[in-house]
Amino acid sequence: MSNRLVLLGSKGGPALRPGGPWPSSSLLELGGRTIVVDCGLGITRGMVDAGIGLKALDLIFITHLHSDHVLELGPLIHTAWTAGLANPVKVFGPPGTGYIWQHFCQAMAFDIEIRIVDEGRPDIRELVSVVEFGEGLVLEEGGLKVTALRVDHPPVTDCFALRFEHGGGSVVFSADTAFFPPLAGFARGADILVHEAMLEQGIERLVAKTGNGARLREHLLASHSFAEEAGRIASDAGVKRLVLNHLIPADDPEVGEADWIAAVRKTWTGDLTIARDALVVGLSCAEAAVGEETA
Ligand SMILES: [Zn+2]
Ligand SMILES: [Zn+2]
Repeated sequence: MSNRLVLLGSKGGPALRPGGPWPSSSLLELGGRTIVVDCGLGITRGMVDAGIGLKALDLIFITHLHSDHVLELGPLIHTAWTAGLANPVKVFGPPGTGYIWQHFCQAMAFDIEIRIVDEGRPDIRELVSVVEFGEGLVLEEGGLKVTALRVDHPPVTDCFALRFEHGGGSVVFSADTAFFPPLAGFARGADILVHEAMLEQGIERLVAKTGNGARLREHLLASHSFAEEAGRIASDAGVKRLVLNHLIPADDPEVGEADWIAAVRKTWTGDLTIARDALVVGLSCAEAAVGEETA
């Protein structure tokens, strides 16, 4: 298995609109491990469409408990279970992740009990373990090292950027965050930095569309980063490639890839990818992977 990143869902926020992209979820294949980062709605469909058998589910990381990052956690694992999952799955998330998983299992108890008895499946509640983490080392196992940095995403305090390293390859996810200079140190020298991004000229139109204008604008400005700010972090960190992800707005016909590129080029001159659903980004190889797009 070659190392690669698949951007399964690329939009910021939980709302869906016809023809638009899906909320946050990514798949990282690194050092032979199958790693899910965030479980926004659509992740199960995205993984299957990307050709990944759900039985391969291994490690799941949740950056924070906003619904656009965690809504499909239970359904993903449950669907993998009905697809024949037999290996243990470890879920790593901020405090509260265990509550979400346990209550999902309670809500689905009728179906779970029936499938154990009727289909002879292992108990899903015993296959899955949840580890709630804070800042610092999250996991060190078989050459894979995962560390977390608390970022600035008010009013959510438990929101963590994640750094994955294996055999010299490294990928960093910013999670949702306002401009946060310590991220540059955390992402230092990474092969890929996946950073969230907003586009200034799209915010007003988005705010008008959703109907809770002033409050939404306030949240966006306090809790998220503009593309120029993501570029600043990437430059300061000296990463090899910047991927703009969790795009806000993501489904405005008047905002295209050229607008994102124009904004981020003010602060970032290196390799660049603007995320869209199902896009594949290769790791530690000079050539573009299948489906990869560079700009
Ligand atoms: Zn989000
Ligand atoms: Zn969030």
